[in-house]
Amino acid sequence: MVRRASCLRCRTEVAESAKACGTCGFSLSLCEAIFPFEAPPLSLVIDPSRVVPPGIEKHLARPYKALRKRIPQVDICFCFVQLQHGYSVEEFAFWLFNTAPGADQSRAWNLLVTVDLLSGQLSLTSGYALEPFLVPESWEASLQELAACLGDGQWNEGLAGFLRDSRDLLSSACYVARRHAQAHQDAQSEAPRISEGSQYVTSPVRPSCIPPEQKEHHQPTKEPITTGP
Ligand SMILES: [Zn+2]
Repeated sequence: MVRRASCLRCRTEVAESAKACGTCGFSLSLCEAIFPFEAPPLSLVIDPSRVVPPGIEKHLARPYKALRKRIPQVDICFCFVQLQHGYSVEEFAFWLFNTAPGADQSRAWNLLVTVDLLSGQLSLTSGYALEPFLVPESWEASLQELAACLGDGQWNEGLAGFLRDSRDLLSSACYVARRHAQAHQDAQSEAPRISEGSQYVTSPVRPSCIPPEQKEHHQPTKEPITTGP
């Protein structure tokens, strides 16, 4: 099966394995020419031009930890840039996501939110493993809320709120992914694991642990209810 994706520039459908868009020629190497610098490594807050208020990671520690605890396989990064007029935040995000060093293991399950503070535009980029399960429409409200907060200078509120929203949105995305993987057994190893506290914890009563006498003693005297023939 050939996975399809739409070209960032002209929106034509292209095979995901294609090196360049057959219609407009857009490619990763073109992006590398547009952004001719070294990409920073992916981390919770990527702030190459030092525009983010200092100490923000401390404020985000709790919601970030909660997100990672729920879905350990998925990681999230925020990148803040001030792009010159005419540059696309989507293309920047695509370049950063694919050229950031040291992310080869985790990139497939990464989610990157890139914010251009000059244009106010946001871009959501996800790894290939996560991408098929994200419904862009369901992220729209959270992205708009984040943009509004950042526009008002409410960094902590905006980012912490987005992390909380992400936990819910990614949880449902991962449920879909798990169901998908169960339906396609061969891909099961690709399914993200969700840590959900007691939901998956069962405490089975092992029959062998119950002494036979005690079992008999507690036998109900009335006829057992049977279902079906
Ligand atoms: Zn194109």
